Amino acid sequence: MNIGIDFDNTITDNPGLFRELTAGLSKNNHIYIISSYEKAEETLIEEISSEKTRMLNEWGINFKELYLAPEPVPESKAAYCKKKNIVLMIDDLQENLSKIMEISTDTVCMRYLST
Ligand SMILES: [Mg+2]
Repeated sequence: MNIGIDFDNTITDNPGLFRELTAGLSKNNHIYIISSYEKAEETLIEEISSEKTRMLNEWGINFKELYLAPEPVPESKAAYCKKKNIVLMIDDLQENLSKIMEISTDTVCMRYLST
């Protein structure tokens, strides 16, 4: 089972919760961190990826892959969920989840409400 989790305002809001959520998974379950970047950050994508990976490792988040979705973000995240057969996606933005439900119809969406 593949599970997708957003980075900004989701994992960053409560790393401890997501560490626990990702800690006890068996080898058949995989966590995909599905983040994004803005067009203006295009030349910095390597640095953004390294920095987010560093933070995830520091927080002890167990994950298989980090994906940075380009703009338009909802469409890119939705296409990635479909491609990776994501069965559950957790994100703080309803805009992203609505597009995922529309395009990746086998993905169950859960909205994370940041504290
Ligand atoms: Mg977010």
